[in-house]
Amino acid sequence: MSETQITCTKVGHTYPNGVEAIKNVDATIKQGEMVSVVGQNGSGKTTLVKHFNGLLKPTDGDIMIGDLNTRENPVGLLAEKVGYVFQNPNHQIFAASVHEELSFGLKNIGLNESEIEKKVQDIADEFLLTEYLELNPYRLGFSLRKTVGMASIIAMEPDVVILDEPTTGQDYSGVKTIKESMAKLKSEGKTVIVVSHDMPLVAEETDRVLVMCNTELIFDGPPADLFINKPILEKTNLKPPQITSFSEAKNFGDNKKAVLSVEDAIKYV
Ligand code: ADP
Repeated sequence: MSETQITCTKVGHTYPNGVEAIKNVDATIKQGEMVSVVGQNGSGKTTLVKHFNGLLKPTDGDIMIGDLNTRENPVGLLAEKVGYVFQNPNHQIFAASVHEELSFGLKNIGLNESEIEKKVQDIADEFLLTEYLELNPYRLGFSLRKTVGMASIIAMEPDVVILDEPTTGQDYSGVKTIKESMAKLKSEGKTVIVVSHDMPLVAEETDRVLVMCNTELIFDGPPADLFINKPILEKTNLKPPQITSFSEAKNFGDNKKAVLSVEDAIKYV
């Protein structure tokens, strides 16, 4: 696998209608990191991550994807390195069958027929989609359609996978599949960047959190540091996972790092 580092230097984006959505963002994301992006609605999360594969170009500053400046390279080329899974699958899915949707990107990156067929079967198996391959994605429920969107991007094996609100609208089994898939991507050395309001997911599945607040990146660090940082939590109205608040009330842990999971908390019982 190749290595793709994302480097943001003083990145800003003002939409054509004059709304300044992000400003002055400096961040470097290395190959293999598990990163979450959190913050209130409208704080600039989606705008920021859409820059990471060139879907949006900065109006200030620069983003490098590996050695490619996103201003100078087409999104088709950048998307081979960084795959973006839309929050709303209806903005992404267009093929007449699940099979065709999963195949489309694979054709574009130049795989031959038998490679495509093998890859489609494998990815359908991983995401529990095999029985739906011949169906129109729009005949599936929202949760499964969202899974199709995620599977079609992961099938192309980009170095970096961006998941925008993956667990929103997902049922229990959908959330389980997403978590397993994130763990698999991590074990393969992929970078995963997840935009989420799901704090247990942020706490348990990611190692680094970027907090956006009113256009700016105001915190960049591990979840165990974020969830004890009262000023940042208050400013952004972020609520720690229940197990973190419970552990704090019980004086579990060492007051320097938040307890992030039930497995962690049990050590103090
Ligand atoms: P978040 O993902 O944190 O909810 P967004 O990046 O979607 O935030 O939005 C940040 C700001 O940019 C908001 O004020 C939003 O209304 C505005 N915005 C988002 N998309 C567009 C667009 N296509 N055109 C104009 N303004 C937009």
